[in-house]
Amino acid sequence: MKTMQQICALLGNPVEHSLSPVMHNSAFRDKGLNYTYLAFKVSRNQLKTAIEGVRALGFKGLNITIPHKVSVIPMLDELDPLSQRIGAVNTVLNINGKLKGYNTDAAGFMRALEDKGIDPSGKNTVILGAGGAAMAVAYALAEAGAAITVLNRLARLNEAVRLTGNLPSRASSPARALALNPENLAGSLETADILVNATSAGMHPNIEENLVPQGLIRPDMTVFDLVYNPLQTRLMSEAASSGARTINGLEMLVWQGALAFELWTGLAAPVGVMRSQALKALGGEPENPVRRRVPSGAAALPGSIALIGFMGSGKTTVGKILAEKTGKRLVELDKVVEINAGASIPEIFARKGETGFREIEIDSVKEIASGRNQVISCGGGTVLNKINMDRLKESAVVCYLEVSPEVIMSRMQSQDAVKPVLADPADREEVARLIRFREPFYRAYADIVVNSTGLSAEDTAGQIIERLATHARPD
Ligand code: NAP
Repeated sequence: MKTMQQICALLGNPVEHSLSPVMHNSAFRDKGLNYTYLAFKVSRNQLKTAIEGVRALGFKGLNITIPHKVSVIPMLDELDPLSQRIGAVNTVLNINGKLKGYNTDAAGFMRALEDKGIDPSGKNTVILGAGGAAMAVAYALAEAGAAITVLNRLARLNEAVRLTGNLPSRASSPARALALNPENLAGSLETADILVNATSAGMHPNIEENLVPQGLIRPDMTVFDLVYNPLQTRLMSEAASSGARTINGLEMLVWQGALAFELWTGLAAPVGVMRSQALKALGGEPENPVRRRVPSGAAALPGSIALIGFMGSGKTTVGKILAEKTGKRLVELDKVVEINAGASIPEIFARKGETGFREIEIDSVKEIASGRNQVISCGGGTVLNKINMDRLKESAVVCYLEVSPEVIMSRMQSQDAVKPVLADPADREEVARLIRFREPFYRAYADIVVNSTGLSAEDTAGQIIERLATHARPD
């Protein structure tokens, strides 16, 4: 007999950006559980009614996100000791009609730090924001013996004061609450070892927002941005180019989700599945039903398409249009590499050299190649490794975007070079040599070649679709 379906849900506002549905539903499927996870947009004044609905409908569990992590507490029947001490709840378990609150953000944050080999004990930490996530992070860091400074906007400085007043004091200096302004930011970052952005600044759609001027970040600092959409926030990019170690919000998201899964189901969470599904969702464009509508002509194109070509050949720009036209998901290999390394590409090159980068690229290609119905924008040098191309060719038609060396040169001079191997765009001879060296690899692995010199990105995508329509593909 089939077990009754259990419902878990996310309550928050906004929730459109959330990866929790994709992460938890894939975990439930992986474990063969008859569970479903839904996201509900709930405004502040509807939270009480929503919680009553959860009780009435017998939902198994909840995640609570912005802006309800604190305000939900009086609506619950019980709190576990940790969430009580932190004063914020992000997970709820329905135990025979009684709603019990937990906090898995704190452990998720610490797990992400540990995975990077960072011990916060005795370190100076600066936390931006004093909301639900900041409360969990500050508590975890204080418990670990770090010195804490919390900065929040002046109008709500009292939130930061309350937060720091509740922290355990294992550090040598008491926690400080300061108004978030340029002077306090500069002063506190002067001696900071770890900076945590626990505000929603930089989160989609406000991706240009960054509260920290680049000049304040030192190479010996660790910058942890809790924002995971986008994975590479402006703060992260600027911190990486200042030489700082960076950690994005994805690992914390995965671990807090895994702990919630274990509370609801009593089973060990399939962490790898959760991470790869979250990554896949982030590798593409944000879900948008209008953008995902497939035009009839392109609908007959099954399988994945891998775009190869030199840096500046338009793989990502054309890939975006192609994904839109074919209803496939755009996956940018370089982004997946950055996520897997927990560092930007310049940072990977600086720390591990090109060899280290290529190793991470091989693992990332393996991960991507197992996906379906994707437009994969490869790196310029992905073709240099046969193992990468063998894997891609198993599930994708490989399309070489051929562009004349002159066009590549002019595009590279008009944009910031992202890979140190080409960091000096003035070095035309080196670029020309690389083009000559790689060209035979592109040709050898291409199933189709489209020369986009003189074509717009839109027309190039159109040509690829035409060529694909007559090409026999792997699935
Ligand atoms: P929250 O309770 O609503 O708190 C948001 C905090 O950010 C408040 O302190 C708010 O300041 C501050 N803030 C928002 N916009 C700001 C801006 N433009 N300038 C300065 N301060 C600003 O939200 P939350 O639950 O703590 O979440 C905060 C962020 O962490 C979100 O981006 C969320 O996605 C992320 N997060 C990630 C994970 C993860 O697993 N990676 C887990 C939890 C949260 P005021 O008090 O002045 O309004």
